[in-house]
Amino acid sequence: MISLVVHGGAWDIPDSLLAAHRAGVQGALQVGWSVLKRGGSAIDAVESAVAAMEDNETFDAGKGSFINAVGEVELDASIMDGRTLRAGAVAAVQNVRNPITLARKIMEESEHVLLVGMGATRFAKEHKVPTCSPDFLVTARELERWRDIQSAARFSTVDAFRHGRLPSDTVGAVALDRSGSIASATSTGGTPNKYPGRVGDSPLIGCGTYADNETGGVSATGWGESIIKVVLAKRVIDLMEVNGGDPDAA
Ligand code: ASP
Repeated sequence: MISLVVHGGAWDIPDSLLAAHRAGVQGALQVGWSVLKRGGSAIDAVESAVAAMEDNETFDAGKGSFINAVGEVELDASIMDGRTLRAGAVAAVQNVRNPITLARKIMEESEHVLLVGMGATRFAKEHKVPTCSPDFLVTARELERWRDIQSAARFSTVDAFRHGRLPSDTVGAVALDRSGSIASATSTGGTPNKYPGRVGDSPLIGCGTYADNETGGVSATGWGESIIKVVLAKRVIDLMEVNGGDPDAA
């Protein structure tokens, strides 16, 4: 059996934005599914599905991401291979188009798990992961949202996401390949108007992402500060371990 689940936008999506979200997740499913169907690995499937959504400006990942309090995009992403429990992640990177590809490189070409900021960019350049100018990631739609948030003083705190009922357009994927391997991946621009350097759950293994062939895979979305507190992704896996593998109950 092969299987692929993707997410991209878990909020009260207005009707006007539904079609773009549906098309975006369906496109990502197609990309990842074609990998699995021709016998490709779960890791290849989740990386390509998430990269497709990073390339799609609809979502809060890659180009089109939310803008932080000083007007910049900072990207977080992580990927995990359930066969080996190896993982790679990046946080607060400002000039990489596909942070999920960089996270995979870190998993495969280094002995580290998480690189941040300029160190992550340096690693990207060394390993020929395409970089871009920080401006490339900024879209007119998000600049407009940012200006609105900036003009409303109540949004200037760390709780802007929770109090503002703002979009949650983080993307993710979990795949099971023909050999029985599971992989998970998550990518985000974080929360709107976040403090510079703020890191959410998405690049933290065990919080936003987890995969273990013995049990299953998880990619989370929602308010990062609360997801981190309960180590959500690993907690789901732990619960599935004792409940006979029932993800809904977990
Ligand atoms: N979990 C993400 C974060 O806190 C936000 C989201 O899921 O939309 O960075």
